[in-house]
Amino acid sequence: MDLGSNRIKDWKPLERRPYRYKKAAMHFFCPLCRTERVITTGHRLSAINYVQIVLVTGFIVAVSFPWAGLKGLFAFFPIWLAFEGVRRLLFSKEVPCPHCGFDASWYKRDVKVARARVAEFWAGQQSQNAPQSSPEVQTEAL
Ligand SMILES: [Zn+2]
Repeated sequence: MDLGSNRIKDWKPLERRPYRYKKAAMHFFCPLCRTERVITTGHRLSAINYVQIVLVTGFIVAVSFPWAGLKGLFAFFPIWLAFEGVRRLLFSKEVPCPHCGFDASWYKRDVKVARARVAEFWAGQQSQNAPQSSPEVQTEAL
C-alpha cells in the first residue's frame, strides 16, 4: 500500500519549518492553513500540580491552625479550582493558530464566531503590514 497517496499534492503551509518543542502536550496540523502546530500546555492538571496544591493547602493549614484548626483543610477545594482555571486559561490561550487565526475551540462552539475571528485576524495582519500606506495615518502625520 502506498502511504503517500493520501497526501495533498499542493500542500502549502504558511510556515514550512516550525520551531520544535521538546515536551509538547499536543502536536497537530492547523485545519485551516495546514501549518504544523504544537501546544505545550495540556488542559488537565499534572501530578506536579497536585503536589503543588497539597503543599499550598499544607501551608494555609499551618498558618491558620491557631484560630481555625483543621478547617483550613477545606482551602484545598478553592485552590484546586484556581489551579484548574489557570490551567484551562493557559491552554485556551494557545489554541488559536498564530499563522492564520483559526481557533478550534470557537469553531466547536460557534462556526460564525470562528469565521469572524479569522477575518478579524487577517484584517489586523493587513493593517500591521502596511500602516504607513493607509490614508488615516497619512492625514494624522500631517
Ligand atoms: Zn492556521
